[in-house]
Amino acid sequence: MMCKEENCTKPVNSRGMCVAHYQKWRRSQPAQPIRSYNPVKGLTCKLCEKPAQARMLCGAHYRADQRAKEK
Ligand SMILES: [Zn+2]
Ligand SMILES: [Zn+2]
Repeated sequence: MMCKEENCTKPVNSRGMCVAHYQKWRRSQPAQPIRSYNPVKGLTCKLCEKPAQARMLCGAHYRADQRAKEK
């Protein structure tokens, strides 16, 4: 397997690209936050009217729920 970039004949490292091209591609990607709850489209919190983020709860209610479980 060779790098998928045009005019590059280096062996593939990851995602079809050689080490150099893969690292260039990685740097061009937006940084991903490790722990983030993206709002689920169209769902609202079961306890209030805010958009649900996880387990049918908004961010505030989800955190309160998690804290309640820790006890
Ligand atoms: Zn390459
Ligand atoms: Zn809520």
